[in-house]
Amino acid sequence: MQHRRSSRAGVPRKRSMPAAMPARRCLVFHRLSGRYAFESCFSAPESQRNPFMTARLEVIVGPMFSGKTERLIARLHRAQYAKKRVRIIKPAHDTRTQGYIASRAVLPDGTTQVTDQLSAVMVHNEEDFWHVVHLNKFDVLAVDEAQFFPLDEPMRDSLGWFGRAIRRLLRERRDSSLRIIVAGLDMDFAEEPFGPIPGLLAIADSVEKLTGVCMICGSDAGYISHRLISDEKQLVVGDAGEYQVRCRSCYQPPRKHA
Ligand SMILES: [Zn+2]
Repeated sequence: MQHRRSSRAGVPRKRSMPAAMPARRCLVFHRLSGRYAFESCFSAPESQRNPFMTARLEVIVGPMFSGKTERLIARLHRAQYAKKRVRIIKPAHDTRTQGYIASRAVLPDGTTQVTDQLSAVMVHNEEDFWHVVHLNKFDVLAVDEAQFFPLDEPMRDSLGWFGRAIRRLLRERRDSSLRIIVAGLDMDFAEEPFGPIPGLLAIADSVEKLTGVCMICGSDAGYISHRLISDEKQLVVGDAGEYQVRCRSCYQPPRKHA
């Protein structure tokens, strides 16, 4: 009896959980007993929290036609298959697809064809964002074309309202299995960092940087969306007719930015 008592000495007594607390369980390591045990995540001290139960930010970047949305949709299909609740948003500024995100293939004649799509909520501003986030529960938040969410004017930081909202959401739900997956262009047509994406890359847990096929030389090193039309504004929503994926060798910076 004595032996049994001493071997359990390091294991804290199970406390009854208030009804309001979610019954989520984490595998917690107890140093004194040298054993693992399932416990409520909320009762585990900071040092004993399960490192696998933490909110994550994944960012997928690359030029246009590099397969960012295709990769995003593949991750979402997988999450849905695992019975995760998925919420998808995109900036209302993107007028090419309203109410859904779509992966597209570029055909030999230069036109594009939708290969897969999922419904999305269009978000105009921060108020919209928090409304969608608080609507009902979700496990995965996906954001496509996030470069269209603007930075502050005058510039306050490299995150803008959208990046700060993502950071706040990660902090609020840090001890959960929340996944936020953001896809977008990391650079604009002039090789300038684009909107909140570079700031999000800095705070991300994982980053996937894709390349496309260079439309001039055919190499797989296409890293920028070269603009074919002469417009100096950063935000020009366009498609295969207005932009071309190019590698560093084939890219020509616009005169003002050369
Ligand atoms: Zn090239």
